[in-house]
Amino acid sequence: MEYTEIMVRYGELSTKGKNRRSFIDRLYSNTRKALHRFPALEIHARRDRLHVVLHGEDSAAVMKRLGQVFGIQNFSPSIRVERDMDQVRATAIAMIKEQYQPGDTFKVNTRRSDHNFELDTNEMNAELGGVILDNVPGITVRVHKPEITLRVEVRLDGIYLSSRTIQGAGGLPVGTAGRGMLMLSGGIDSPVAGYLAMKRGVAIQMVHFFSPPYTSAKALAKAKELTSKLAPYAGSIQFIEVPFTHIQEEIKNKVPEGYLMTVQRRLMLRLTDKIREQQRGLAIFNGEALGQVASQTMESMVAINDVTTTPILRPVVSMDKNEIIKIAEEIDTFNLSIMPFEDCCTIFAPPAPKTRPNLEKTRAYEKFIDVEGLMAEALAGIKMTEIKADEEFLSQDQTEIASLL
Ligand code: ATP
Ligand code: MG
Repeated sequence: MEYTEIMVRYGELSTKGKNRRSFIDRLYSNTRKALHRFPALEIHARRDRLHVVLHGEDSAAVMKRLGQVFGIQNFSPSIRVERDMDQVRATAIAMIKEQYQPGDTFKVNTRRSDHNFELDTNEMNAELGGVILDNVPGITVRVHKPEITLRVEVRLDGIYLSSRTIQGAGGLPVGTAGRGMLMLSGGIDSPVAGYLAMKRGVAIQMVHFFSPPYTSAKALAKAKELTSKLAPYAGSIQFIEVPFTHIQEEIKNKVPEGYLMTVQRRLMLRLTDKIREQQRGLAIFNGEALGQVASQTMESMVAINDVTTTPILRPVVSMDKNEIIKIAEEIDTFNLSIMPFEDCCTIFAPPAPKTRPNLEKTRAYEKFIDVEGLMAEALAGIKMTEIKADEEFLSQDQTEIASLL
């Protein structure tokens, strides 16, 4: 079908009372960003809907992107025709014929914002119901839960028909909850945590620690590419890379082995918190799940979390690994996450990290290193990049390598 418009229904924001306007404004600008590749589009934000007027742009491609915008409950591709019953009838029949599967039932549901139109809603329902029964062999009417509902809207500027409703991403528009920092590794969990944070309206910035030459350029490229996978949900995402080599070497040399991991994590958290302050973020997100690995016991959280009072939010904390993997597959980060490039933590991981680190000991051992000096050095070396959807870093890396051979 040659659709002319996508009708977009808002999600939870309808319950947000006086914040409604700012929610709609944010959803409007997020939708614009998500659809920037379609220059002919026109988007109109109304009180109860967003109208995406296609002007010939590819409706399937537009809907794929719309499906990634948080704050959208669902949407319907629609066709606008003139206020002329011959056109309405022909379009209604074509629409139903395209969707009809043997055994399907249908109903017509008309709304009018223009009460002067020649047919009222009951007359319109009866008229279109009749022509569909006459022209689509085998179809029958069912009032409660039919497979197909033909929605007809009579407005001043034309008549709109739609028969499909596609589920949106739900959640809240990214940015309406404020800004947070996501500690992004190259693993499976943190990208999923980032996705879930954005789903609740948080605008995230990535903080990634890397340790050259112990970690390869590919590990960094992988973290950037994961960011690009999440970018469609936000328009674009800031990627902040923090050099961590010197800190890890110092810790390795000076801190007892059982506490290497705990002290490293404390430094990561301290640095992320400093960056959060500079970026005016409100909270820090990570991909920790209880009991998954040594550093993810509650004792560990106590020993690591000790360095800040900033809220540390852990969207996947109570999920099983296979539940996290399921989401990673849905958002298409899984295959990237399992690519085997060592990240900075694996390389400096002690053979037997303490699963129940003691807080007092942790604090004492951390004094063996120059926390302030090392942090200043790392902060001086951070690099920020804005990453958009569909940017590729790993394959680019490969072509570079290929060109060197
Ligand atoms: P993930 O799958 O997210 O890597 P994980 O199960 O491998 O998680 P850890 O390696 O213990 O767990 O990391 C726990 C959390 O610490 C990660 O989810 C991430 O938020 C943060 N983290 C770990 N490594 C890094 C890193 N190199 N840069 C930034 N954050 C990191
Ligand atoms: Mg990891």
